[in-house]
Amino acid sequence: MKVTNNIQDIRHMRWQQPAATWGLVPTMGFLHEGHISLVRRARAENDFVAATIYVNPTQFAPTEDLSTYPRDLPHDLALLEAAGADLVFTPDDSIMYPAGFQTYVTVEEVTRVLEGASRPTHFRGVTTIVAKLFNLIQPTRAYFGQKDYQQTAVLRQMVTDLNFNLDMIICPTVREADGLAMSSRNKYLDPAQRAGATVLSRTLAAGVAALQAGERDANRLRAMMQAMIAAEPLARLDYISVAHPRTLAELVEVADEAVLSTAVFFHRTRLIDNMLWQESQS
Ligand code: AMP
Repeated sequence: MKVTNNIQDIRHMRWQQPAATWGLVPTMGFLHEGHISLVRRARAENDFVAATIYVNPTQFAPTEDLSTYPRDLPHDLALLEAAGADLVFTPDDSIMYPAGFQTYVTVEEVTRVLEGASRPTHFRGVTTIVAKLFNLIQPTRAYFGQKDYQQTAVLRQMVTDLNFNLDMIICPTVREADGLAMSSRNKYLDPAQRAGATVLSRTLAAGVAALQAGERDANRLRAMMQAMIAAEPLARLDYISVAHPRTLAELVEVADEAVLSTAVFFHRTRLIDNMLWQESQS
């Protein structure tokens, strides 16, 4: 496994065998089983696997946790090696945003709601860094987690609109035994908050169960889920959504598919989760 922060190294390794397929797994590090599930899938589907570890400053607002975002490079590299990565790109800010940098990628409508409404500069940072990583690695396939559902919708839109020549592969959310979606930010939770944090997955699962039982009124669904989150004393709701899976527009009446998503604060820690429902699968 080659670990490098050098762009020439990346290009050299990428084009040594031009016909080989490459899978790319972009991450911000502090890796857990959720990230590693993407690496394993990429390993199974490609000749070479590249992972990137970079805490991208442009996707954090000034009030957010950029400086305290957890980091553990030696542990990350051990996990990536064990999962079969061939290349790990570990750039720093001077490589990704050198002095004079002034070009950003902006996806419009689908970034304005949900995460984009709560974090207005977030997706511009995500799309810019992912576009740069796509250009650097030129992967055959890029792997992202459903955990960050809106991110997958935004990146799909970018790939379509800017004609990136790759397949987007979206992998299922990996959860702890009690249902909490794995996240690097779970580390911030104290034991009481950690116990309360199961409210996200419990609430979304209740929403899916209601849909399966025939509920189609999105307002009633949102109210039911809102009440469940309000019942958890340590949780403060940011948003609860019943939306169209592609446009992320809020639904009035659910037809045959919906994405249920939520963002909840536990003190200063903000957790997100989502579940997709499709009538054909219920
Ligand atoms: P991050 O390091 O948080 O930027 O995440 C890097 C990639 O891992 C993104 O595509 C995430 O959606 C994905 N990911 C993070 N947590 C999980 C999880 N619990 N299950 C599946 N994928 C995840």
